[in-house]
Amino acid sequence: MIDRYNRDINYLRVSVTDRCNLRCQYCMPKEGVSSVGHHDILRYEEIERIVAIATHIGITKVRITGGEPLVRRGIVDFIRGIGDIEGISDISLTTNGILLSSYAEALHNAGIRRINVSLDSLNAEKYREITRGGELNTVLRGIEEVYSLGFSPIKINVVAIKDFNDDEILDFASLTIDRPYEVRFIELMPLGKASTLNLGRHLSNKIVLERIGAAHRLETLNGKRNVTDGPARRYRIEGAAGEIGFISPVSSHFCQSCNRLRLTADGHLRSCLLLDEEIDLRGHLRSGCSDADLEQLILSAIANKPMGHDVNCDEVHVKKCVKDMSSIGG
Ligand code: SAM
Ligand code: SF4
Repeated sequence: MIDRYNRDINYLRVSVTDRCNLRCQYCMPKEGVSSVGHHDILRYEEIERIVAIATHIGITKVRITGGEPLVRRGIVDFIRGIGDIEGISDISLTTNGILLSSYAEALHNAGIRRINVSLDSLNAEKYREITRGGELNTVLRGIEEVYSLGFSPIKINVVAIKDFNDDEILDFASLTIDRPYEVRFIELMPLGKASTLNLGRHLSNKIVLERIGAAHRLETLNGKRNVTDGPARRYRIEGAAGEIGFISPVSSHFCQSCNRLRLTADGHLRSCLLLDEEIDLRGHLRSGCSDADLEQLILSAIANKPMGHDVNCDEVHVKKCVKDMSSIGG
């Protein structure tokens, strides 16, 4: 479906839970968020119904995210079911990697090949600190496992945080030299309950790119491959197996090419990550709406998808994005 700003909206990100087995400082308060009761979380069959209807208006790609999607019981069968929906040609997963080594094979069998693993430090102590308790080695084992099973692409998402991991930028970039990993630096965004913590910790990707560029010869890749380009500006260290991407929602908005909708864990449809307008699909689903009604609601989310957001990392905007990232899905 082409929207009024000529964007082809073909991508749905689905948060299957707002719960998580980590408590990343920039994403969740330490006591967790779980404000949403079990009953308020969409059931798998409700999500499947929404996805199937969304394919009628041009959704072809689905990313499963959270919270931590691998903590929700039955996730592998659910993923297989989504992949089986006619019209879905691409299904991918974003995970913190803690449960990845035990799920890798089952996920592969369920049809997942494209996986994003979030990892903000390569130092065990710092990783434990930023995630409030996560074990780095567990995640590294998960990445190793998906690599040996042949998942591709394997993207490693790094939120760049001032005075926390800015000294590890080159270490992360080096991960791409021998392995075909795609390391993607993501700018810290002012969202949800943990957002005030993020004030002053924002690091522009311009600085990250400069640091890598000062140490390595970089070739630019945008335009060489279309299908999974998304919002990332992509580079390769000369001769490297993998690539480096920069996702800069704060310093350099990519709204003009944004092709996505987001379904939150509590069943609300959002046309922009950073603006709080949502459509309550769950309410309509549970009061017996027809498929045609549901399709109209999805169409209205597309019709109202804004041209862009004006979010940056100042205090005013922190107050604007009140929903937590774990419920929206990153
Ligand atoms: N739990 C999974 C994970 O961590 O990959 C999936 C959900 S998580 C919300 C998705 C992505 O959002 C992660 O890469 C995470 O680092 C990122 N994220 C969470 N809060 C963020 C924030 N305030 N700014 C930028 N990225 C954020
Ligand atoms: Fe959990 Fe992912 Fe949020 Fe970290 S970023 S607390 S792993 S949902």
